[in-house]
Amino acid sequence: NDVLLEVKNLKKHFISRHGLMGQHTTTVQAVDGVSFKILRGETLGLVGESGCGKSTTGRTIIRLYDVTSGEIIFDGVDISRIKQREMRQYRKKIQMIFQDPYASLNSRMTVGDIIGEPIDIHNIAKGEERQKIIWNLLERVGLNKEHANRYPHEFSGGQRQRIGIARALAVSPKFIICDEPISALDVSIQAQVVNMLQDLQNELGLTYLFIAHDLSMVKHISDRIGVMYLGKLVELANADELYDSPNHPYTQALLSAIPVPDPDATKQGQRIVLEGDVPSPINPPSGCHFRTRCRYAMDICKEVEPEFLEISPNHFSACHLNTIEK
Ligand code: SF4
Ligand code: MG
Repeated sequence: NDVLLEVKNLKKHFISRHGLMGQHTTTVQAVDGVSFKILRGETLGLVGESGCGKSTTGRTIIRLYDVTSGEIIFDGVDISRIKQREMRQYRKKIQMIFQDPYASLNSRMTVGDIIGEPIDIHNIAKGEERQKIIWNLLERVGLNKEHANRYPHEFSGGQRQRIGIARALAVSPKFIICDEPISALDVSIQAQVVNMLQDLQNELGLTYLFIAHDLSMVKHISDRIGVMYLGKLVELANADELYDSPNHPYTQALLSAIPVPDPDATKQGQRIVLEGDVPSPINPPSGCHFRTRCRYAMDICKEVEPEFLEISPNHFSACHLNTIEK
């Protein structure tokens, strides 16, 4: 089976109680019916503005959150409802790296112990063998064994992200959820980390879900890209196709916001300015969630939610413009 991960109609709603007796509830529809597959060895990019549900999707897949509904099929097994105790064996196969490596690294532990922790938790090795694995991992991510005795604050942002990656690799995972791993880094460092992730993928046969808030870097690492808006996937296509012929008005706006090196390039379209912020996922607009910011919005967009349809082979989009008579 070529499919490593399949997410089917995944929903993650957060319900908060308030009022004196907790009698009122608010439901945040953070992830509201998302479906996609990731093939073995592939990188699926997941892109959208903050609050679109991309991080929540990643965190729900690794079961940092309980699933509201839907299925998460990893390597043929539905892990959406298994107990946290059973989830342990999947934590060995599925790892996550985070946007802020400093927050995710324990500042009072040496780098060696930070990387060694998952090795201990999963009983992978002890003593000298454990030490060798740690040194090896440090070298794999472009650091060296002298770094094992130092503390996170002694490293730059890019180096800390390398430490986070080494830690994720310590359990020999198959699948890594990269949650904006380069967003907090200097632009000059971003490409280095992306290149390293790609090298590691090739050497170790890894599969990635790569989450990002804009489309500028994901193109280089992703085979396919999904675009999310307010809890839903609005477009999904091969990376090149998405860049060359974006279908959804939201994707078009995101792409037009990427600075093009040559301003006279023929492909340079007009910049589409997205007015306003993403509406609240507590009360998303009816019909098409994007309609309040869409320059093509029609009457039907308010009434009917557009279906996520295959508009050409392996290219999916959810917009009424694809089905209305022209
Ligand atoms: Fe715009 Fe309507 Fe398409 Fe939504 S369905 S993206 S509002 S044209
Ligand atoms: Mg995020």
